[in-house]
Amino acid sequence: MVSAETARAAWKLFQEHVGEGLPVSAVIYSHTHGDHWGGVRGVVDEADVRAGKIPIIAPAGFMEHTVSENVYAGNAMNRRLFYQYALLLPASAYGFVGQGLGQAVSSGTVGLIAPTHFVDKPIAEIDVDGVRMVFQNTPNTEAPVEMNTYIPGMKALWMAENVTALMHNIYTLRGAQVRDSLNWSKHISQALYRFGVEADVMFASHHWPRWGNDRVQEVLRGQRDLYAHMNNQVLHLANQGVTISTIHNVYELPKSLQDMWFCRGYHGSPQINSRGVVQRFLGFWDGNPTRLIPLSPGDSAPLYVEMMGGGAKIMARGRELHDQGQYLLAQEIVNKLVEAEPQNQEAKDLLADIFEQIGYQQENTGLRNSFLNAAFELRSGIPEGETGNSSGPDVVRAMTTELFLNFLGIRMDSRKAEGMRFTINLVTPDNGETFLIELENATLTNIPGFQAKDPTLTLTINRSDLERTMIGAKTLEAQIAEGTAKVQGDASVLQKLASTMVDFDPRFEIMPGTKIRGPIGHADAYAAVPRQTIAE
Ligand SMILES: [Zn+2]
Repeated sequence: MVSAETARAAWKLFQEHVGEGLPVSAVIYSHTHGDHWGGVRGVVDEADVRAGKIPIIAPAGFMEHTVSENVYAGNAMNRRLFYQYALLLPASAYGFVGQGLGQAVSSGTVGLIAPTHFVDKPIAEIDVDGVRMVFQNTPNTEAPVEMNTYIPGMKALWMAENVTALMHNIYTLRGAQVRDSLNWSKHISQALYRFGVEADVMFASHHWPRWGNDRVQEVLRGQRDLYAHMNNQVLHLANQGVTISTIHNVYELPKSLQDMWFCRGYHGSPQINSRGVVQRFLGFWDGNPTRLIPLSPGDSAPLYVEMMGGGAKIMARGRELHDQGQYLLAQEIVNKLVEAEPQNQEAKDLLADIFEQIGYQQENTGLRNSFLNAAFELRSGIPEGETGNSSGPDVVRAMTTELFLNFLGIRMDSRKAEGMRFTINLVTPDNGETFLIELENATLTNIPGFQAKDPTLTLTINRSDLERTMIGAKTLEAQIAEGTAKVQGDASVLQKLASTMVDFDPRFEIMPGTKIRGPIGHADAYAAVPRQTIAE
């Protein structure tokens, strides 16, 4: 579960129906996404984990990928989640109806306890409190790090999130690196022939179990072919000249896969995934130089509006196309007017009407939500108020110092660092790490394990104290004043560096003319501030 509160409620429900007094004797993290570890504190006490009473088992590389996937572009992903998951819309037949994988992500306390056991071989057998489990690592599938689990004694197969009751995302709209559809299919194949040929029940980290070997095999085979087909047929078409700009209108699943409910595009979509496969292999350019270095939309739109005869003509034709149900054509022309005239509310309202109709026609919730959320913002602007969950201190603590320093380089506004030049030796004695941090060419870099011979500043602070600054609980200045951080050399470079740091605001404008300019909470200059994106 995402949060301790929901995980605790689920555990209580389990006890009510299966029996109290059954202990939690181990935790298995199937993969790196937050909806599969965020609730861990609702079912175990960290003290029991530390005392070695309760192992936490995870695939190798779990911590690195858990933290890194959502940090570097975290603010942009958090903003885009409002679109993919329609976080602003009321639950209604005309608004939010679901998030594809499930109904909604819970709010609550997101926690993380580091694993105690890592599965680092492709296949590993482990005795977990007397139950033999066979773990199958499946890297670069639904997540960068993921594993399936088979329990031979019960003929029970847990397919993590690799096989659920729908087509999953190859390209996910919140923004993520495109997943490897063929590799995903091959790992399902491995599971089918290692375990699926004898399994009596298959369950997953979302949705319901499948009972009986016939059904288990049917679902595994359908899902195997689904992910292989998207890879193979999209590349087949790409090799014949179909591009990222046209593939979604050309690619189709075979009829037999379309007829399987568990292969339909409720979460991932054939249209979006086909474009993702092209992106993975060929990138965003479709080969037409017009789309190589195009003007920004707001810069080219005024010429379109002028050539089309002005706003009034566009509005009239846009309404006509809307009334004829030609929504995709209508959006093309009305969107140009909105981009040319971001303050034209009448145009934004018409575009919102068009988006709504397109949204209502989608089987895929991410597409529906994106159109409906854009319609909401076009009519009402981006609302003020809560800006998404900051990650819990647990998650920031899980960041390596290198990842934290990398992220400072991203938070730095390079334009504010012109002409600055210094080196900092960072020493964290409690974990024995050293870093050489350099600012030159308006670029902040770091290299672990090195030290400058003649640094501008040497900063010595235990990693455990640095974490208090990373989570925003204590400023670096306060650490220096109290002596938990020691400085040698020119400490003024820390203020200089702090002056270049920017707080990302997850309410930036996506649709033209929808911006708000309210204040946002200010993070400490050296806080790590990754935002929690709960993303499957
Ligand atoms: Zn999930």
